[in-house]
Amino acid sequence: MANSSDHIVARRIKVRGLVQGVGFRPFVYRLALRHKLKGWIANGTDGVEIRIEGRKSSVPSFLEALRHQAPPASHIDEISAEEDVPEGLNDFRILASIDLTDETSEISPDIAVCSDCLQDLKKQEHRHDYPFINCTNCGPRFSIILDFPYDRSNTTMQSFMMCPLCRKEFEEMSDRRFHAQPVACRHCGPEYSLHMNGRMIREFNQILDLISTMLSGGKILAVKGLGGYHLMCDALNEKAVGRLRRSKKHEGKPFAVMFRDPETIREYVWLSPAEEKILCSWQRPIVILKNRKTLAHSVSLGLNTTGVFLPYMPFHHLLFERIRQSLLVLTSGNLAEEPIVIEDQQALSALAGISDAVLTYNRDIYNRTDDSVVRVINDKPSITRRSRGYVPVPVKMPFQVNGIFAAGAELVNCFCIGKNDRAYMSQHIGDLKNAETFEFYTEALDRFKKIFRISPHLAVADLHPDYLSTRYVHNMGLPVAEVQHHHAHIASCMAENALDEPVIGLALDGTGYGTDGQLWGSEFLVCDYHDFERYCHFEYMVMPGGDKAAEEPWRMGISLLYQAFGLDIPDTGLPIIRNIGMERIGQLTEAIDKKINCPLSSGAGRLFDAVAAITGICLHSRHHAEAPMRLESELDEHCVESYETFATKEHISFRPVIRRICDDLREGISPATISAKFHNTVINCSVDALKRIASETGIQKVVLSGGSFQNRYLSEKLQKKLTRNRFQVYTHSKVPCNDGGLALGQLAVAGKRINSCR
Ligand code: ZN
Ligand code: ZN
Ligand code: FE
Repeated sequence: MANSSDHIVARRIKVRGLVQGVGFRPFVYRLALRHKLKGWIANGTDGVEIRIEGRKSSVPSFLEALRHQAPPASHIDEISAEEDVPEGLNDFRILASIDLTDETSEISPDIAVCSDCLQDLKKQEHRHDYPFINCTNCGPRFSIILDFPYDRSNTTMQSFMMCPLCRKEFEEMSDRRFHAQPVACRHCGPEYSLHMNGRMIREFNQILDLISTMLSGGKILAVKGLGGYHLMCDALNEKAVGRLRRSKKHEGKPFAVMFRDPETIREYVWLSPAEEKILCSWQRPIVILKNRKTLAHSVSLGLNTTGVFLPYMPFHHLLFERIRQSLLVLTSGNLAEEPIVIEDQQALSALAGISDAVLTYNRDIYNRTDDSVVRVINDKPSITRRSRGYVPVPVKMPFQVNGIFAAGAELVNCFCIGKNDRAYMSQHIGDLKNAETFEFYTEALDRFKKIFRISPHLAVADLHPDYLSTRYVHNMGLPVAEVQHHHAHIASCMAENALDEPVIGLALDGTGYGTDGQLWGSEFLVCDYHDFERYCHFEYMVMPGGDKAAEEPWRMGISLLYQAFGLDIPDTGLPIIRNIGMERIGQLTEAIDKKINCPLSSGAGRLFDAVAAITGICLHSRHHAEAPMRLESELDEHCVESYETFATKEHISFRPVIRRICDDLREGISPATISAKFHNTVINCSVDALKRIASETGIQKVVLSGGSFQNRYLSEKLQKKLTRNRFQVYTHSKVPCNDGGLALGQLAVAGKRINSCR
């Protein structure tokens, strides 16, 4: 007999946060059943709404469980509960959404295999060591979605018929796999096959044994992952890693390494609690961590960091159970700048040439998703490449952006498309100058339009007339809006921080097209979404050879030496002079004098290139941004000294800095110290300029964006110094600070302009 005070009550509960498309509604359903509560749950605009009715004594434990037992991929910002009048409901229901917008946000990113499923791998007879196990809380999502709504028939699981066992779980409301669309078991689901030497092996145990032997023998394997193929080898075997690097053609980027577990990671790299949390999150991104013990040299080619991640597919876990190795190179399966391979036929032809065997499985990958890359800066995640695990979670905008398509940049492209007040960023696309990548761009756009039911009525482009994305926009036959590159960078950071007021923006970047036709990239702006004013920038530098200067940092080095010393360059006696040779230097200075293909640039990235070259740290770069990465990697963190710049109201000149760097080099001061002094200089002169702009405008909010902020030292020190100077500092955590986040800013600027026209 229930206590008399334990009468029937009702509550109306609102849960705000990432609670859609992550198995939250079935979770609440099961929770309500367990607590013998009646009522319903429905999606709302900002989360979910729940109504419960039942005994008063059940309410506290229900709320407690709601907060603490929520699905791993959900994130609760806030729970509020209000009293209501009981209506005598007699069951608990999941209500269908009325508005389609809420439903499309049910399209979830891919989720790493959960711990319950890892246990089921050993407990469930029909899924014993079955590598495609998944449940309501985990498994493939975005990568297999063909269309909306998210039902099995609209995924690449459509060709697999559920067996009676799976169907029972799928239909049983109280089961962990209730409505888990990709549910499968070894009787009915997808399976792996290994292709080697003209043979095909399908027995999974035998496959694992063969892979194990091959890895130990230094072989390279092409392996089908969740969002694309990987190339895999032993991360401690230099011969294997070196061969992989050579066969990937012009590959100069660091390789990512998958580790068995966090314990092994701690042996090789330094790991802070914030970094560990992100590493172990359900998104399972690659996290850039500082080396402690060396791996094979060819993994990251002398950089002091390694891109590290943990197993996220059931297959990865089963593999590590079987093999001797605790760490494997797992790099994207592609050639040069092409997108990662997702098609089995292409893998069997293109990747077979650079691997000793190809492991594939018979479920198609529909939406290509690279592994995401994150760096932790000031204990906050800073996303460098946003794809698997993050896409297609929308960014909620402070205003309407419906029907706007923002095309993004060119080299590191993502596009963005608006639906009501949500901005959907595409997965990482890559360099549009590559024909296959451009095809991926247009295909991904078509799919976003279809899946999210959006037909754009306005297209937004960068000001750069030659970006392929700009040309694409102008051929769409839609009204076009143009947004300056660095205004878009700052606007993207404002948008993800829901700022809608005038701010001071500091964009430190590679290069972007300016309103004066020069290449900008160190911009101190006062702006809102509508417009911007350029208050200050680093002094223009000559960029001999244009785009070539970005690939060959020595060009920027010589250019700045020429600016500082004129024809006396040889007298500096620097190693760069010997390395490049007077003949090439002569040709370069002649081109500068005659202004042949010598655009002007204020790009911070180009300044970092110049210093990397002058100090001899990096004369030639093998990939985009290698020189600034190496300059940061070499840096001596204990050095607090800096150089003096020369600043006027409009610009900051680094000429005196270049001269002092040459003095330091001649005095035998190490490149590590010089790099630190240079970084400190950039920080100090930026803070000085920002203080001046703040006192002129009365604005204390500073927004930081642009690719240079991937530099952890620069970001952390600058943020700390600005905070000490009472600035409110805003940085990126949802989209990249590099050009991969640009489209969000383009969308925000265009959206705001349209709204105010109405
Ligand atoms: Zn699971
Ligand atoms: Zn089955
Ligand atoms: Fe940029």
